[in-house]
Amino acid sequence: MDPVTDALEEIHHRLGALREGRVADYIPQLAHADPDAFGIALVSMGGNTYRAGPADTPFTIQSVSKPFVYALALGDLGPAELLRHVGVEPSGNAFNAISLEPGTGRPANPMINAGALATTALVRADGPAERFARVLGCLSAFAGRPLDVDEEVYASEAATGDRNRALAYLMRSAGSLRADPVETADTYFRQCAVRVTAADLAVMAATLANGGLNPVTGVRVVAEPDAVRTLAVMATCGMYDGAGQWLLDVGLPAKSGVSGGLIAASPGRFGVAVHSPPLDASGNPVRAVAALGEMARRFGLHIMHNSGLHAATVTGAERVERAGRSIAVVTAQGGLEFTETEALLYALRDLTPPEPGRLVLDLTGVSRALPGAATALAAVLADLVARGHRVAVAETLRLERAAAQGHAPTWAVFGTREAALTWAAGEDGA
Ligand code: GLN
Repeated sequence: MDPVTDALEEIHHRLGALREGRVADYIPQLAHADPDAFGIALVSMGGNTYRAGPADTPFTIQSVSKPFVYALALGDLGPAELLRHVGVEPSGNAFNAISLEPGTGRPANPMINAGALATTALVRADGPAERFARVLGCLSAFAGRPLDVDEEVYASEAATGDRNRALAYLMRSAGSLRADPVETADTYFRQCAVRVTAADLAVMAATLANGGLNPVTGVRVVAEPDAVRTLAVMATCGMYDGAGQWLLDVGLPAKSGVSGGLIAASPGRFGVAVHSPPLDASGNPVRAVAALGEMARRFGLHIMHNSGLHAATVTGAERVERAGRSIAVVTAQGGLEFTETEALLYALRDLTPPEPGRLVLDLTGVSRALPGAATALAAVLADLVARGHRVAVAETLRLERAAAQGHAPTWAVFGTREAALTWAAGEDGA
């Protein structure tokens, strides 16, 4: 047992008693779902899985496929071109609404059916078979295993999905869908009928939370900017007409589907998925919404919440005596983004002795630096050197490469803290 599993099990146990909501039946096959089915899975950025309840029960992905196919189309078309065809506005409409922009017929919201149909049609391919193969390949790469289609659910939706075909025809007549409407709806129905488990969906969500890199398989599925964009669209549009309330209450990018699946991503932390078929009036799974609300409150996950994660970036700011000389040493660890770099530069400025002084920046524990962070750091180091300081940096990230663009890297770079300290304590000119 571990604390994460304990928390999930406690939530699972309590919310299992919730009896509200209704299983969707407008796709006849979905009506057979067990209303008591309830599984939770969570996958961390280290690729570890935690679960509560049956997390291996298969069900069809339905609308939870939308963000992943959106990410695929982003990679195919680029953000500007995709935006020309599909908007990014929370339309406040139900999932099956006729929600097209007046004049252009462009669907406003990629996370409801109209926008999702148009997005699927944009996936680059030589025909519908290849298009679906690419969709399935993408969903499988996100899940980290080969997925398949529930043919019965597919056939059931294909037989009854006139509203989605009508939406496709409307977009076609408005000029916002270039592909064939029947083929487009068919590919979309297959996409919705892809079979997953809560455990699969958690890996898929974790891959988005991890910037597009699957934390279990180590495979890069989509480019980082595309993962970030997809999460942003999920945050504003992922929960149909319940999206605003969701952002207030839970505050995580999420996506739900009519078969009772729901994913949420805590960027840089984990992906989580819940499966529970009974839906609320917006079409969101009741137990899943409650479970995510509890988790967000308990673990402080709201994206607007200041996590305080940055506090430990600078782990040391001290003066060290070496060979009778005083050296200012600043030590940092983890990832350098805006807040961390600001804290690091502040510590450095605070500790800088009068020139000519001796400084060591120990970045051997830094695992990654945003380009902006490396540039800012390089500018400060170049300035310290120009002012006559003897500056050594211990690092393994090769920050000096980024720095070399625009600033002569005149500080000394070492692979270890010890080597940097020894050099910093040496004779000037040596
Ligand atoms: N296949 C479903 C439909 O288009 C997906 C909708 C959903 O999950 N909200 O009706």
